[in-house]
Amino acid sequence: MIKLFAANWKMHKTTGEAGQTAADLHKLTADKLPAGREVLLIPTFTGLEAVKKALGTDERYSSGAQNFYPQKQGAFTGEISPAMLKDVGATYALTGHSERRHVLGETDELVGAKTVFGLAEGLRIILCVGEKIEERKAGKLAEVLTRQLTIGTRDVPKDVAPEYLSIAYEPVWAIGTGEVAGPAEIIEAHALVRSLLLQIFGDSGAKMRILYGGSVKPDNATEIIALDNVDGVLVGGASLKADDFSRIVLA
Ligand code: PEP
Repeated sequence: MIKLFAANWKMHKTTGEAGQTAADLHKLTADKLPAGREVLLIPTFTGLEAVKKALGTDERYSSGAQNFYPQKQGAFTGEISPAMLKDVGATYALTGHSERRHVLGETDELVGAKTVFGLAEGLRIILCVGEKIEERKAGKLAEVLTRQLTIGTRDVPKDVAPEYLSIAYEPVWAIGTGEVAGPAEIIEAHALVRSLLLQIFGDSGAKMRILYGGSVKPDNATEIIALDNVDGVLVGGASLKADDFSRIVLA
């Protein structure tokens, strides 16, 4: 399985900064990128075109969006459609990121609607799931992941191409906090996600990538990426500087 190294730049970087960081990252990594690795940059909407331009035609590098609305077009002020994202070079999009769930109030049902719509429009989707600290402490890890994954994929066709749907396990308590989940916690959660994918999608669930996200840094990436069922990483803070992210991509 090709490992995916994804950078979520959240609400950071102007158009010029996004293009420059993408160009710097490509320069730092293109000659050394190990076989079987793919790099994905996820800037704000306004950075997409510049990032695509900076990455050029190198197929190992792609760009994606942090969000979209599950309609083709219409009276949805402030929203953006998958076709508009593809028009500026995006091939991937996130759904269900914890900041959209917990800061912006997205429900499991809306996340599911976005996931199925984005796939139908030809985007590769990374569906994010993860428990809050109080849910973990209450022993609800399996319950939360099962609910988010089941509702999040409820209407996705069972024969979806496995390379089009990836899951990011991102424990909410580890995002942007510097507190990374331990190896045993990552292995447990990823095994659970894998078994849910197999239940939902049959054999192709074995081919869907499961990324880990939550305070991944250059000094812990090598260990995390080697764990069972970890098929890539989704990185926020440590992806903002090309130098830091290049060390994760090459870890
Ligand atoms: C994220 O935003 O998806 C994320 C994992 O952030 P950080 O790496 O900063 O924890």
